[in-house]
Amino acid sequence: MQDCLFCKIVRGEILSTKVYEDNEVYAFLDIDPQAPFHTIIIPKQHISSAAEIDSTNSQVISKVFEAAAKIAKQENLENGFRIVNNCGADGGQTVGHIHFHLLARRNLAWPPG
Ligand code: 5GP
Ligand code: ZN
Repeated sequence: MQDCLFCKIVRGEILSTKVYEDNEVYAFLDIDPQAPFHTIIIPKQHISSAAEIDSTNSQVISKVFEAAAKIAKQENLENGFRIVNNCGADGGQTVGHIHFHLLARRNLAWPPG
């Protein structure tokens, strides 16, 4: 997608601090961290939101979660972490490329509010 912010990050047209990368997944530090460790994990493939996941593209979501477990090991997040997906306006999604926040290194409240 030409004008998508996160597609531009994947292409390197917008700089980001890489946390993890493989053929299908890219992870980078959030520019406005909500926890001492806050990375955004995205499929390189453009999918606009969780509402657009179907049988043709769901495989890449499993790759996102494989990446999350690798990142947790890489970053020594043995105390745990939270993965968040915001979907649509009411879900608080501000970037129209599906992404998963991985937050860690502080005690995270539940319910989140
Ligand atoms: P959302 O609110 O859509 O779930 O999350 C979008 C996230 O992208 C926000 O946490 C925001 O801080 C982050 N973000 C927005 N623009 C940029 C950017 O240019 N670079 C980085 N690294 N993060 C960004
Ligand atoms: Zn995109």
